Amino acid sequence: MTRERLYGWGRTAPSISEVLSPTSEDMVAQELAHATSVIARGLGRSYGDAAQLSGGLVLTNRSLGGIGSIAPDGVVIVGAGVSIDELLAITIPLGWFMPVTPGTRQVTIGGAVAADVHGKNHHRDGSLGDHVLEMRLVTPTGTFNVSPTMDPQLFWATIGGMGLTGVVTTVTLRLLKIQTDKVLVDTTRYSHLDDVMAAMIASDDDYRYSVAWVDCMTKGASMGRAILTRAEHATRRDITGDSLVAPKSAHLRVPFNAPRGLLNPVTIRTFNEIWFRRAPKRREGEEQSLGAFFHPLDGVSDWNRLYGRRGFVQHQFAVGDAQSETVVRAIERLSSSGVPSFLAVLKRFGPANHGVLSFPIPGWTLALDLPIGPLALPGVLDDLDEMVIEAGGRVYLAKDSRLNPEAVRVMYPRLPEFLDIKNRIDPQHKLASDLARRLHLVGK
Ligand SMILES: Cc1cc2nc3c(=O)[nH]c(=O)nc-3n(C[C@H](O)[C@H](O)[C@H](O)COP(=O)(O)OP(=O)(O)OC[C@H]3O[C@@H](n4cnc5c(N)ncnc54)[C@H](O)[C@@H]3O)c2cc1C
Repeated sequence: MTRERLYGWGRTAPSISEVLSPTSEDMVAQELAHATSVIARGLGRSYGDAAQLSGGLVLTNRSLGGIGSIAPDGVVIVGAGVSIDELLAITIPLGWFMPVTPGTRQVTIGGAVAADVHGKNHHRDGSLGDHVLEMRLVTPTGTFNVSPTMDPQLFWATIGGMGLTGVVTTVTLRLLKIQTDKVLVDTTRYSHLDDVMAAMIASDDDYRYSVAWVDCMTKGASMGRAILTRAEHATRRDITGDSLVAPKSAHLRVPFNAPRGLLNPVTIRTFNEIWFRRAPKRREGEEQSLGAFFHPLDGVSDWNRLYGRRGFVQHQFAVGDAQSETVVRAIERLSSSGVPSFLAVLKRFGPANHGVLSFPIPGWTLALDLPIGPLALPGVLDDLDEMVIEAGGRVYLAKDSRLNPEAVRVMYPRLPEFLDIKNRIDPQHKLASDLARRLHLVGK
């Protein structure tokens, strides 16, 4: 056991915890029996304080490894500590891909299930929980197999439950069959936010993958200009060659924290401008590798250090289709505030699953990366929360570092149901995290 200072990807709000890496399910069970306060941790890619616990015990899941053989229908049992990167290194050469992947491969399967992660295909395929058949879950009151039919309440509280129902040790997943390691990408540049949003709605049924990068630094007529990329997996007939090669690891690394002020309105505006101009007005059927399309940021490791010592927050919210105007108002608010923001990521969400605290709701999700520092930032974030609440939407807990308990109760109306389930398997309220304490999710 070691004492460590832990923080999330945004590098804000660190805290000190005891850290242990259990190597077996029995060891996890023993730790849960003896600890007074405990939480699981994966690769620490949640942005805020979800995977740390001040003064408590953090169980890193990285030694809970193992990848079973893949059945002919793509079903595989994976250790919760295996990263998507490690899993894809095995599965892609065999012609299988993750049914849902977040924007980085550097997350563990346990962390991905706990956040019920979504990808660029939510409108088509839902979130990761929709592809999980079963899990082994160690709780303070016992170890269970849970699935949509075996204790479905506990299963759906764990999908998106941010580690607060126990430690997942293995996950049975159904993978997606692929014929090649390429996607065919259509790219279109839009000068107006309304146009890109209309195009995304119109093509919900036409593409498996869809994402828009929105420039939040421009005002006036070009406010919210965007680059939309939509893609399908390439089949053997689409391309020459049928290679199935897994993406390579990062070859670049940010070695130290960038000096304060490196990312300011001028540098970020310039970056956004270059990005926008580099994109073609319209290009169809471009072959891209799986890594380049799904995980473009994985090419540089530790890129979060570019934000300097003070770090950054990501504000990601979801609102329904009838509240499209909230997306426009949020970008307006940001672009008029002077708070710098790299290109924001806009995606479509399809139907929600049964995850009690799962984030997606049908409609839109917008993710904004904002460096800590500008005086206007706290006010902008509060305004965004207010807009989201007014629209009946919610902020993503895996990205959050600053919501308050009242806001979360409104955003996640099934919270009382979640706490009932948590009380059943954790009557002594052992499962906790800094996020859970901050948002009053530890117990009733
Ligand atoms: C560059 C980048 C891009 C991203 N893109 C997306 C995206 O497109 N879509 C998306 O949905 N998310 C995205 N994320 C967020 C990320 O997918 C989630 O935060 C994910 O949970 C991180 O997994 P992790 O292994 O790092 O877990 P951690 O961050 O270490 O932990 C996250 C949560 O999982 C819990 N947990 C971890 N392991 C277990 C376990 N074995 N059992 C039970 N609970 C466990 C922790 O307690 C914590 O609450 C992105 C993050 C980054 C840095």
